[in-house]
Amino acid sequence: MDKTADKARPTPRAGIMEIEAYVPGKSTAPAGVAKVHKLSSNENPLGPSPKAIEAAREVASKLDVYPDGTARRLREAIGEVHGLNAANIICSNGSDEILGLLAQTYLAPGDEAIITEHAFMIYKIYIQSAGGKPVTVKETDERADVDAILAAVTPRTKIVFLANPNNPTGTYLPFQEVRRLHAALPGNVLLVLDAAYAEYVRRNDYEAGIELAGSAQNVVMTRTFSKLGLGGARIGWMYGPLHIVDAINRIRGPFNVNATAIEAGIAAIRDRAHVERSSLHNETWLIWLNEQLTKLGLRVTPSVGNFVLIHFPEDKKHSAEAADDYLTQRGYILRRVTGYGFPNALRMSVGTEEANRGVIDALTTFLKS
Ligand SMILES: *Cc1c(COP(=O)(O)O)cnc(C)c1O
Repeated sequence: MDKTADKARPTPRAGIMEIEAYVPGKSTAPAGVAKVHKLSSNENPLGPSPKAIEAAREVASKLDVYPDGTARRLREAIGEVHGLNAANIICSNGSDEILGLLAQTYLAPGDEAIITEHAFMIYKIYIQSAGGKPVTVKETDERADVDAILAAVTPRTKIVFLANPNNPTGTYLPFQEVRRLHAALPGNVLLVLDAAYAEYVRRNDYEAGIELAGSAQNVVMTRTFSKLGLGGARIGWMYGPLHIVDAINRIRGPFNVNATAIEAGIAAIRDRAHVERSSLHNETWLIWLNEQLTKLGLRVTPSVGNFVLIHFPEDKKHSAEAADDYLTQRGYILRRVTGYGFPNALRMSVGTEEANRGVIDALTTFLKS
């Protein structure tokens, strides 16, 4: 073997190898576990809308045909349900894709993008992959801090990513705080409001950002179908000003949303009863889980999403790692969140009644052991 030829292999461009790849939630338990409850990816315990399943089945016989590259009918259905102009919407292969496209479009090498201490990890990956510099700011009480974000703005800042509510904390900023943030940001800084959990939030002072993204020139709102039962279909969307839509459309894949996703998405978003059922189920069990976990002496970060962040005691025997092992052995798959700055916590998606009760029973025994 010629050593010089080996050295001449292709090299990723600067920065790529510094990126830590995203680690999705586990989905398997050890062999022999009777039933697996996946509570690690904030999926909908009620499953997909039956109408979406039907629509996906129907499209199967037409998979030879390319999808509409602009996903027009899906954009129109979204527009109809939310009262938005379809021209201001872009659909994507999950909202992850749109977050990446925003970074690619607005960050030049060396530009800064602000994220918060416990923010959804995907932002950092996309900032780095665009050659940008992630600037992480402190949160207060595990919640985004508007003053800390504003203090971090420099002439190189191009984007602020704000998950509202955030994952994995589940905390949110009342919309007045988001408005205060926007009002103080320079006009050339793009504010990305990631409202992946908007359908689950039942708070009067919460807004996903439709009005702001519809009126300001530097705000977009991103949404997803994933947490409402279509995680596997990969459908996300962005709403924002036309100049941003125009820029993104120049670089996105020409058929980034596949035919099955388009049809399933249209059926799902029109099925408002399923959305409401999902949200109600969540409301009931989120409250119940909070009460039960607190009774067990565990601290829970106040969440408005479809998951809870559970903090474990300091003793090694009852650490998050030990709890994770214990639960996994019994078929309950939660999410480790060490990479999010929570080495001793687990994130649990709100599950079916059976799963929720099962986790509480298991944790009760675990904590007594
Ligand atoms: C799940 C999630 C998303 C995106 O999910 P997609 O499946 O890519 O649509 C975006 N932001 C946050 C905060 C999430 O938790």
